[in-house]
Amino acid sequence: MSHTSERGRRGLMLLISSPSGAGKTSMSRRLVADHAELELSVSATTRAPRPGEENGREYHFVTRESFDEMIAADAFLEWANVHEHRYGSPRGPVMAALDAGRDVLFDIDWQGAGQISQRAPSDVVRVFILPPSMAELSRRLHARAQDAEDVIQRRLGRAYDEIAQWGTYDYVIVNEDYDRAYADLAHIYHAERLKRARNGWLAPFVQGLLDERL
Ligand code: 5GP
Repeated sequence: MSHTSERGRRGLMLLISSPSGAGKTSMSRRLVADHAELELSVSATTRAPRPGEENGREYHFVTRESFDEMIAADAFLEWANVHEHRYGSPRGPVMAALDAGRDVLFDIDWQGAGQISQRAPSDVVRVFILPPSMAELSRRLHARAQDAEDVIQRRLGRAYDEIAQWGTYDYVIVNEDYDRAYADLAHIYHAERLKRARNGWLAPFVQGLLDERL
């Protein structure tokens, strides 16, 4: 995949993973709100909406049949089974954003991050967010009070498997202090945007400087 806009900027895909409750969703949403050139990839899922979630905002909530139709139509950039449900990133909006030189943030698990990285290794930036301790992760999951106890226990169990994947990410942030962790995430994004290879407009610009004889 190659994404170079007319302005000569190559959009990047920021893949953010963490166990449930480590703060990834709230940091991701804030980063998107703070950057006009960054879009959130809204995933499709077969799980039921939680209280307060809206179809098309947090997720596209779909039936298992519609999800499988999308798989058959090759409509996903990646998809995976997570917590007994299916989750996938619809391809269309991502391609449109990248082609326009915009960046896309994905809040997805390690399986999805792996699939996208394999397809477009030079266009992805992978960030993993860790909790300061497992006890704190458990406390945050309970404080969220969105899920039943058995669901929380399953998420905690899965957190160990998710955390074990940390070594395949480019950056790792420990979310002990939320504002500090968010600042780290924003710095990573800013620096990655400035990479030479993502800014094709630089070559003609520099040539212009060299041609400008004083
Ligand atoms: P939740 O049900 O708590 O919203 O999300 C459960 C897990 O699924 C989270 O780790 C989240 O990052 C992951 N997830 C959400 N959307 C996608 C997706 O489109 N693809 C993949 N692979 N994982 C996703």
